[in-house]
Amino acid sequence: MTTEPGRPDVPPTTPPEGGGPDGGNPALGGFETAALDAAERARLGHRAAEAARRLAGQDIVAVALTWVDVGGITRTKTVPVQRLEHAASWGVGMAPSFDVFLLDDSIVSGRYIGGPAGDLRLHPDLDRLVPMAALPGWAHAPASRYAQDGTVHPLDARALLRRETDRLAAGGWSVRTAFEIEWAVSDAAGYKATASAGGTGGFSPACHGPAYGMTRISELSRYLRDLLRALQASGVSVDQLHPEYAAGQYELSVAAEDPVGAADTAVLVRETIRAVSFDHDLAASFSPKVEADRVGNGGHVHLSLWREDGGDGAGAPGTGAGTGAVNAMAGGTGPYGMTPAGEAFAAGILARLPALLAIGAPSVASYLRLVPSHWAGAYSCWGLENREAALRFITGAAGERATAANLEVKCFDGAANPYLALAALLAAGRAGVGAGAVLPAPFDADPAGLPAAERAARGIAPLPSSLGEAVAAFEADGVLREALGEAVTDTVTAVRRGEIALLDGATPQEVAAATRWRH
Ligand code: GLU
Ligand code: MG
Repeated sequence: MTTEPGRPDVPPTTPPEGGGPDGGNPALGGFETAALDAAERARLGHRAAEAARRLAGQDIVAVALTWVDVGGITRTKTVPVQRLEHAASWGVGMAPSFDVFLLDDSIVSGRYIGGPAGDLRLHPDLDRLVPMAALPGWAHAPASRYAQDGTVHPLDARALLRRETDRLAAGGWSVRTAFEIEWAVSDAAGYKATASAGGTGGFSPACHGPAYGMTRISELSRYLRDLLRALQASGVSVDQLHPEYAAGQYELSVAAEDPVGAADTAVLVRETIRAVSFDHDLAASFSPKVEADRVGNGGHVHLSLWREDGGDGAGAPGTGAGTGAVNAMAGGTGPYGMTPAGEAFAAGILARLPALLAIGAPSVASYLRLVPSHWAGAYSCWGLENREAALRFITGAAGERATAANLEVKCFDGAANPYLALAALLAAGRAGVGAGAVLPAPFDADPAGLPAAERAARGIAPLPSSLGEAVAAFEADGVLREALGEAVTDTVTAVRRGEIALLDGATPQEVAAATRWRH
């Protein structure tokens, strides 16, 4: 089925009592954060005016305010630097219906969102306002979305993630996290010829050297150099860049940050990669499955839980007391050195992976990627350094473990909204900590190599093999529903169902083609 843009295919049901998204009803998952008042608007305007002067001095002409929709596509409104002050105080108008856009820009509606009416205000986060070296004359600011009365929009994913971060902080915990970004580079010709006609442009790898081969660096050395320079100029702390396995594929990893910062960085990195690619007459695909018969792009999430007071969360004093936070993923007596809380956090995520996939592997194409023996983590199990486990534990080298030990969620991909993905992971981890959850035995091989009966005996189950299965698990998950709120849960479900219907009956090749250039 295809929905004409602007024509909802699901009739909107009556909004629940307490109003729609602008109503501020906490039962919908709304925020307790105080509404923007006159003093706060004035303060923001003053800061923005200063920032605008600084940017103008750097030849910056305009600022792109970005936010990521429920389907994982980064959307934007832009303002000339002279308008930044007004945008910071009063926001930039945008329609709430973007929350129910599908990957082909058709629009569905959920119980809380839909229809052409209403207006939200996008406010740039001035703390994250940076020049985009890859787009000369442009700066980037991730935006938060507010209603016109100054309250936070219940579907604002940045606010949602901040709320999850605060909930962990209330228990004395923080999380350090980063997204690994994989992408495949194509000559731009196929993209330009056909991408506008529904994203069906062809993919023609722009480099031809072997997987992880130095040849691929030589082939595109200027492109990769310009990318690293642009990221550095935008203040991104790159850890590593390498050629990946699939044709034309590379991967970039960045330093861990606080959750909202890490999601903002994921957006900035991706848009920088995209821009530098176009500048070199190339096109970047972040799709989970660029080509139906090859390895896909992951969007692995690294996370570690930290005890802010340096203790173990159970009353025992921490060795790091007085020296700041201590990594709960190391220095403990649990598996591979995890502390009880670190293990519980990991177990909370592992137990909910099928439901979490509706957020972290959110497209129909995600399930073409999430297949066994492709290093995507298609089985619900965990293991030390196991690249076939959906949850991979990494200790880091001896001597570095106290800071380096972390979890890697491998089954997530680049179609995920990074804010929603982290909010859901934090909620799952927090539920694990609250319940004192424990991990099953680790597994250190490819589960696909085990007879099904032995897999079952070890408690290793295949993860959902379709978006529909993941959505069913998500809808049945009370913890995620409560953490994300009713409005977000309902809207996620509506968008996922819309994309399932959109691609119903499509071949893997058609799904890959429809998704290739969208995220
Ligand atoms: N490209 C693989 C994926 O789809 C991941 C390869 C790796 O382990 O980095 O997730
Ligand atoms: Mg990789």
